[in-house]
Amino acid sequence: MNIILLGPPGAGKGTQASRLVKDHAMVQLSTGDMLRAAVKAETPVGLEAKAVMEAGELVSDDIVTRLIDDELTQIGPVRGVIFDGYPRTAAQAESLEGLLAKHGRKLDHVIELEVDEDALVDRITGRFTCAKCGEGYHDRYKLPRTPTLCDVCGSDQFKRRADDNEATVRQRMAEYRAKTAPILPFYEARGLVKRVDGMAPIAEVSAGIETILAG
Ligand code: ADP
Ligand code: ADP
Ligand code: ZN
Repeated sequence: MNIILLGPPGAGKGTQASRLVKDHAMVQLSTGDMLRAAVKAETPVGLEAKAVMEAGELVSDDIVTRLIDDELTQIGPVRGVIFDGYPRTAAQAESLEGLLAKHGRKLDHVIELEVDEDALVDRITGRFTCAKCGEGYHDRYKLPRTPTLCDVCGSDQFKRRADDNEATVRQRMAEYRAKTAPILPFYEARGLVKRVDGMAPIAEVSAGIETILAG
């Protein structure tokens, strides 16, 4: 099973992908995570991407296509893949077709998380993650069970993203509307697009995705 999770920043892609990884032993391929790792490691890709990401703009198609190609090579053919935050442009969607063929995979579902843009700023500005294991949390919607300790690994170190501020979020939403939403018809024409109400509580969104995967 290979799926794309599509939706604007804060829609819940990462949250749902990480649940799918746990329950279905799928592999999450998040270009955002890959790029943040590159920025942190100060690789050539990271050095090129840093300012672009901080401005809430999109990194070049060539860079992200190369990152995905490398990851698909590393994981081999065995497990299903969740594309999280990729593709984000028509050019990336086109490149993905070639990559899927090259790596012997086919797309099963494109799941669009439908959300109300007004809620996204609130979601993004309240977002934080465990600094050790990466588990995602929210100041109001998903606090750790013990307030200062990660549910998954017990760490007491958390972090927030440099680009999770209101001004950058607005720019990222504009990018989504202008460049990413227009790729939906490409998948719709092939009957791949399934929609889930991303405004529902996290567990309900997960249940909606389960129904799609089972269908
Ligand atoms: P994305 O990967 O699409 O940018 P995330 O999965 O990181 O989005 O979710 C953004 C923030 O909103 C996180 O803090 C997450 O805990 C929270 N969140 C995710 N899904 C929901 C939901 N259905 N209801 C409320 N908060 C949510
Ligand atoms: P979110 O889901 O909150 O929008 P991501 O972690 O997916 O955030 O992406 C963070 C930033 O990384 C984006 O604003 C963009 O600069 C860059 N990025 C991530 N994925 C891509 C992609 N597929 N194409 C271009 N830029 C990307
Ligand atoms: Zn943790």
